[in-house]
Amino acid sequence: MAEGQRPPEVDRVAASRRAVAARRARAALKRDVAMRVISPQELLRRALADPESAAGAMRVTDFLTAIPAIGEGKRDRILAQLAISPVKRLGGLGARQRRALAGFLDERWPEPGPRSGRSRLVVLAGPTAVGKGTVAAEIKANYPDIHLSVSATTRPPRPGEVDGEHYYFVDDAEFDRLIATDALLEHATVHNKYRYGTPREPIDRVLGEGGTALLEIDLQGARQVRRAEPSATLVFLLPPSWDELVHRLIGRGTEDAEERARRLRTARAELAAQHEFDYRVVNEDVATAARDVVAAAAR
Ligand code: 5GP
Repeated sequence: MAEGQRPPEVDRVAASRRAVAARRARAALKRDVAMRVISPQELLRRALADPESAAGAMRVTDFLTAIPAIGEGKRDRILAQLAISPVKRLGGLGARQRRALAGFLDERWPEPGPRSGRSRLVVLAGPTAVGKGTVAAEIKANYPDIHLSVSATTRPPRPGEVDGEHYYFVDDAEFDRLIATDALLEHATVHNKYRYGTPREPIDRVLGEGGTALLEIDLQGARQVRRAEPSATLVFLLPPSWDELVHRLIGRGTEDAEERARRLRTARAELAAQHEFDYRVVNEDVATAARDVVAAAAR
């Protein structure tokens, strides 16, 4: 290029900043797929909807290796089998290649679809720090037709918490009695510390009257409800991205390195359970997430 045609320094600086931002955005998306915050199909949909986006600019090789269980050897065999050149970017795939890739993903990792014949017993669960409590409170405040279950717990009340409203605060002996009399629909020890359980009677009453009951409980509880009531509707709350969940989990980083690592391991394992759920809702903004949970409950 002749001297006079060079872009001015400012343009080059701006272009290199844009390139760095684009690389970061692609790396964040890869983490979302690796940590199962979004499905590979979802990333492909975003790429095809907007080829100029970070998803669209991702190389098909990077996309495949972001998927848990695909290493470089497997990736190359898949690309050969689908007749897709490794230099392709997702947004630049031809119609045949898109179909081949989407078909391959659906076959290997089917996305959970809504089940039919579900009851109005709705469970909201998700990884720690995703904001389940906030979304449940939003539903309670804005959707009075939905009965939010009040759990029993052995945890002491926090300032401002009201017995019978936020929880039924009970001691260990009382919790044992609730279990012994089969008064709990499910119960679990959460974070290896306190016990939590869902009183059965109010749920039976609400469902008996044709109403909708919402349980905001942990993953172990959600699995117990599924076993006890296979027709229950299970909703999994997802963070908008892996990076955002990390931010919410470790915030300003006041915990030590071991505790931070433990929380991240837990979050990763919790996200891997989402395929057990009927619906997935992203908690990008609380009002929208609440609306989406209510919509899932009504389907
Ligand atoms: P927190 O003590 O912060 O209010 O709640 C801690 C965790 O306990 C949250 O993840 C919440 O979902 C879970 N939890 C609250 N109530 C119940 C319950 O009745 N059963 C189960 N299994 N988990 C619960």
